[in-house]
Amino acid sequence: MNDQKIPLPPDVDPCDAEGHDHKALRLDEARAQILSGIRPVAGRETVPLPEALGRVLASPVRSAVDVPSHRNSAMDGYAVAGSELPRQGERSFEVVGTSWAGRPFAGRVGDGQCVRIMTGGMVPAGLDTVVMQEHVAEANGSARIAAGHRVGQNVRQAGEDIRAGAIALQAGVLMRPAHLGLVASIGVGEIEVFSRPRVAIFSTGDELCSIGTPLGEGQIYDSNRYSLNGMLSRLGVEVQDLGVIRDTAEDTQRAFEEAAAKADAILASGGVSVGEADFVTETLQRIGRVGFWKVAMKPGKPLAFGQVGQALFFGLPGNPVSVMTTFYQLVQPALQALMGIAEPAVPVMIKAICQSKLRKRPGRQEFQRGVLARGDNGEYTVTSVGDQGAGILSSMTQGNCFIVLPLEHETVQPGTEVEVQPFDGLV
Ligand code: AMP
Ligand code: MG
Repeated sequence: MNDQKIPLPPDVDPCDAEGHDHKALRLDEARAQILSGIRPVAGRETVPLPEALGRVLASPVRSAVDVPSHRNSAMDGYAVAGSELPRQGERSFEVVGTSWAGRPFAGRVGDGQCVRIMTGGMVPAGLDTVVMQEHVAEANGSARIAAGHRVGQNVRQAGEDIRAGAIALQAGVLMRPAHLGLVASIGVGEIEVFSRPRVAIFSTGDELCSIGTPLGEGQIYDSNRYSLNGMLSRLGVEVQDLGVIRDTAEDTQRAFEEAAAKADAILASGGVSVGEADFVTETLQRIGRVGFWKVAMKPGKPLAFGQVGQALFFGLPGNPVSVMTTFYQLVQPALQALMGIAEPAVPVMIKAICQSKLRKRPGRQEFQRGVLARGDNGEYTVTSVGDQGAGILSSMTQGNCFIVLPLEHETVQPGTEVEVQPFDGLV
């Protein structure tokens, strides 16, 4: 278990969180505060390269070799000595052999001679320039080359991609397909990565029913664990599903303790307001540490952040859209830091002309759901999905982006430029 210590904001009193909006933290402040206290998980493991996709490098990878390992041709053509290229008119060279990729030309090349060469073929000693075959007329063992070529052209130098002794990849890098290829290019077959953080999830609510059980009166199916599971799996952490927890102080405490014992981070949904059946924040205060409790975002308020034992704790709101919004805006950056990612990808923001009227009151940063499209003129437009209720999960399946409306903005009129965050850019 790693030794986390989340910072407590001095200016937010968690006991005063009932509806006092001026006590709510701005989203960017909340995010900065969360990130300031997180260090990567302690565990490391060595994995074979093909299994490293989506893992985070724990130590730098240094190259023992030059890539490419030898001077080679970037074209199919003829290798010549640049000093022999004609300044004007043309010149004939005797073709004395061929250098194939992987089958170098073994002979020597003298004055007035050239070598037929294929892409990737080693450039023979004494030669330094390749003329592409389309510019050469070959007949009867001789190649005619006209003036106008540059000395050194079409030759890839040894080590021009990666030099022997250089660091090819720094620690903290998320391994994407290109990274796998790069590590292979230096001949390394396994790498040291951070262990995957273990993330425990549970849903709270007496009304929640699990899939496979008929709904009783007043019940709904638990959807949050499924969307959370999806987002967490994509992120590449290990999910521990603790199921549905009833709205009692005892059950909530037991879930906290079980989760803290087996996970690096805990995500609970529901039960974070101050209603009579809301035990999450109260339990966090009793057996953990509360970092903050309210964030000025919509959907997403209230939201508890803190620590239980050594585990980070996020008490997400119960409403399904709030769960997804707070996850992407706050939880995901925290988990990326826990995974060891040094510089998480910045979520893409696109400016688009809003074609709908978007109702908004100042005071909270809003994440409304919209459909982003690109017109024939290349301009992006975005249209609201309609009902923006925090319980309308279909707004997340019908939409393809968040329309991000700043804290102090008021209602947006059609034709206004807004900023949107495509869902596809969010991992
Ligand atoms: P709460 O924050 O517990 O007051 O819940 C707010 C709303 O979200 C209520 O309408 C809950 O029924 C709903 N809700 C809470 N948890 C879930 C869940 N796991 N799946 C679907 N809806 C939920
Ligand atoms: Mg509840």
